[in-house]
Amino acid sequence: MICLGIESTAHTFGVGIMDGEEVLANETSMYKPSEGGIHPREAAEHHSKVCDEVMGNALREAEISREDIDLVAFSKGPGLPPCLRTGAVFARSLALSLDVPIVGVNHCIAHIEIGKLKTNAEDPVTLYVSGGNTQVIALSAGKYRVFGEVLDTPVGNALDKFGRKAGLDHPGGPKVEKLAAKGSNYIELPYSIKGMDMSFSGLMTEAMRKLDDEDLEDICYSLQETMFAMLTEAVERAMAHAGKDEVLLTGGVAANKRLQEMLDTMCSERDASFYTVPYELAGDNGAMMAWLGLLKYKTSEGDELEDTAFIQNWRTDDVEVVWDK
Ligand code: AMP
Ligand code: MG
Repeated sequence: MICLGIESTAHTFGVGIMDGEEVLANETSMYKPSEGGIHPREAAEHHSKVCDEVMGNALREAEISREDIDLVAFSKGPGLPPCLRTGAVFARSLALSLDVPIVGVNHCIAHIEIGKLKTNAEDPVTLYVSGGNTQVIALSAGKYRVFGEVLDTPVGNALDKFGRKAGLDHPGGPKVEKLAAKGSNYIELPYSIKGMDMSFSGLMTEAMRKLDDEDLEDICYSLQETMFAMLTEAVERAMAHAGKDEVLLTGGVAANKRLQEMLDTMCSERDASFYTVPYELAGDNGAMMAWLGLLKYKTSEGDELEDTAFIQNWRTDDVEVVWDK
């Protein structure tokens, strides 16, 4: 069965095509703000401008035609309302014109499921770290439960904001990583973890303040060490609490080698396995929506059109994970 998946929750418009477990195509186009952070309406305009082109590219890459599509899946939430609306409208009109079923799927869960497919992790604690999200998630009693999450600025966003202040190109995350590799003096920064929840705003602001009188490479190094130690601590406690012995790292920040290394070390010390989602499937993309669409469709009929309205704050633990039972 061939499913076309549409991603549009934030800066990325993506179309992915899955034939069962095989990724046939995964095309994306990313909105880049002219300055500052993401403007939801501008991002949505970007998505509606590029949607036909991205879909055309995906069909060419997959070497299929529109008529070969059996199912349409789209990211129903959580995300930025104008962006979600654009994706939902595109998905509805495609499903209607092809006369195929449509399924709306949860963006965060799509990150987890494509990760499980590609790494063979079976029942991991997932650390989902991106521009818009920071969550520690594990399956428990039929739902993906959020064991810990960020209380303010998500980790990718904090790195990008710091990068902007330090005069680095957007996105700041990869540049901070490069500079951090050359730093070695640890500068004390606020380590803020409450229960399993993390706060990065204070840490980010303090790192910005240090820009006046400390070496940039040392600040980047200290910023990463502090943030990633907090994330590793939260993941380790979730593993102990939920009784899991696998960790799955996903989201755009999963590309960071130092974060991978810290989680890997923690896992080795606990005799646990560590997995990272392949780079091309870790950031926002349409293939993961298509894969979750296929999983969901196995146990349901597809959605009625009137049930395809987006859900801005759709919580990960609102979804019954029927396909995993
Ligand atoms: P996403 O929101 O999942 O598309 O991921 C984008 C986020 O990932 C941005 O905040 C980037 O700064 C961040 N990112 C990408 N590569 C890296 C890296 N190597 N280290 C840290 N953050 C990164
Ligand atoms: Mg995402």
